[in-house]
Amino acid sequence: MRIIRQRDMIRGVRARWRKQYPDDGRQLACGESAGDVFARLSGLDLETCSAADVEEIIGNDTWTTAACSECGRSVPDVVTLGEARDSEIEVCLPCIGRAAALAQKSDSL
Ligand SMILES: [Zn+2]
Repeated sequence: MRIIRQRDMIRGVRARWRKQYPDDGRQLACGESAGDVFARLSGLDLETCSAADVEEIIGNDTWTTAACSECGRSVPDVVTLGEARDSEIEVCLPCIGRAAALAQKSDSL
């Protein structure tokens, strides 16, 4: 179990982009090459830039948010569960809170 914050996703965006698009010459649907996008990402200070800065370069928020396995929303922060069974899922903080409340309620019955 660990928490992944949006800043963690932002900090890792260049490495993840490089892993997904190792070929700088690959043309993307937006008309830019993968290398063009990487170069623009390289111009960001990943410690201080906003998620919107990254999203403007990439064209969507899938690199700065995670999908909650419980509610399905795209969210900035998640907790991972399931590592011991090698089937990790990501759950948003409000859903974690609801799960804890449910556990406490069940506890008092
Ligand atoms: Zn959720």
